[in-house]
Amino acid sequence: MEEHRLTKWNFEGNNGYDKINKASKINIRTVLQMLMDNLNQHENRPVVPLGHGDPSVFASFRTCSVAEDAIVDAVRSAKYNCYASHVGILPARRAVAEYLSSDLPYTLSEDDVYLTIGCAQAIHVILTVLANRPSANILLPRPGFPLYESYAASCNLEYRHYDLLPDRGWEVDLEAVEALSDENTVAIVIINPGNPCGSVFTSQHLEKIAETARKLRILVIADEVYDHLTFGSTPFVPMGVFGSIVPVVTLGAISKRWLVPGWRLGWLVTTDPNGILKISGLVKNIVEYLNITVDPPTFIQGALPQIINKTKDDFFSKTINTLREAADTCYNKIREIPCITCPNKPEGSMFVMVRLNVSLLDGIGDDVDFCLKLVKEESVIVLPGIAVGMKNWLRLTFAIEPSLLEDGLGRIKAFCLRHAKKQ
Ligand SMILES: *Cc1c(COP(=O)(O)O)cnc(C)c1O
Repeated sequence: MEEHRLTKWNFEGNNGYDKINKASKINIRTVLQMLMDNLNQHENRPVVPLGHGDPSVFASFRTCSVAEDAIVDAVRSAKYNCYASHVGILPARRAVAEYLSSDLPYTLSEDDVYLTIGCAQAIHVILTVLANRPSANILLPRPGFPLYESYAASCNLEYRHYDLLPDRGWEVDLEAVEALSDENTVAIVIINPGNPCGSVFTSQHLEKIAETARKLRILVIADEVYDHLTFGSTPFVPMGVFGSIVPVVTLGAISKRWLVPGWRLGWLVTTDPNGILKISGLVKNIVEYLNITVDPPTFIQGALPQIINKTKDDFFSKTINTLREAADTCYNKIREIPCITCPNKPEGSMFVMVRLNVSLLDGIGDDVDFCLKLVKEESVIVLPGIAVGMKNWLRLTFAIEPSLLEDGLGRIKAFCLRHAKKQ
C-alpha cells in the first residue's frame, strides 16, 4: 500500500501532472484569494472589492426583468428539461447568429454558432482544438486575461506574448506580432473591448490586425465578451467585420452585457464568410470536441432568444451610463494620487490599468507588496499587475456600487499619502 501511495496515487510533483499545477497558478482567483486571506479581521469598514469584475452583486448592476422573466418562462414551459444537442439548441444558435449579424456586413447562419458554458468554455474549446496541431503556438496579449495562459498550459499549447502599448492607447504592437510569429503560429488572440486595459480598438486598428494576421496566415480569435460595453468616443466594432480579410473566431457571452456571469451562457462563432475554417478542418474539430464536453443548461439556452430579442435599449444605456460615470470617477480620483498614473482613460469593459511608481513610496517593494499592504491597512482589494502580466501596474475595476467606488479610491489615496516618501 505504501508503495502504491508513492507511485500511482501521487498526483503532485514532477510526474507529468504538473501542468495542472502550473495552469492553476496563472490565475486571478488565486491572487485575489491570497489578498482576501490578508484582510484585517478587526476592520469595521466594508471591504472594497476593486480586484475582480463581477458587478452583478451590486444593486446598480442588476440584470433586466426581461432576462429574469425569460428564465422563468423557459423553466415553466417544461420544454427544456432535456439534454441539449452538443452544439446547442437551434433557436438559441439562431438568436446568436442574428444578434451578431446585425453588426456585420454579411449574415451568419446558426451553423456558425456553438453554445458554450460562458465565454470561458469557448476559450477552452478553441485552445484545445488548436493544441491538436503538433507544435502549434498562439499569440496572447500582455497585459491579458490569464485564463488563456491557464488553458493553454493545461493542454500543452505553446503561447507567446505580444505587448499592448500604453502610449498608443493600448493598441497591439503589430511589429512585435510579426517578429514573434513563425511557421507554427496558428492564431492571435485579441480582447476588445479590453480587459484589463478598458481600451476599445478603432475600426482602422482592427483592420490592420486583420491584415497582419492574413500576411502571417494565422486566424484571429476575438474575445468580445464585453461587446457593446463602450462609453467613450470609440464605438465597438466586431472583428468579424474583417472576416473576409482573415478568418475570425469570435468568443462571447451574455455574462457581461447582461450582467449575469453566473448564468454561464456563452458562444464560439466562426465569422468567416469565405469558409476557410471549414475547409481547414478546424470546424470539424470544434464539433468533435464539443461532442465530448458538457453543455450549458438547456433552460438557459431556451431562454436565450427572449433575452436577446426582448431586452430594451434603456437597460443597455443605463448600464453604459453607470459605467461611464464610474470610469470618470476612477480616472479623476486617480489623478489626485501622486504614485499612480493612468495612461489612458478607459472607454470600454469594466477595468482600467494604472502604473504604480514605487520609487515615490517608502517601504513598498512592488505591486504585490502594495496590494498586500493596501488590503491590510485599508481593506481595499486591487489586482497586482503581475497577475495580468505587468509588474508594477495595477488593475482596478470600476464596476461596483458608485458610493463604494468613491470610498475605495479615497482609501487608496490616503494609503498612498501615508506611505509617500518624505522629500
Ligand atoms: C469575464 C471574461 C471571460 C469569461 O466570461 P464568462 O462568460 O464568465 O465565462 C472571458 N474573457 C474575458 C476577457 C473576460 O473578462
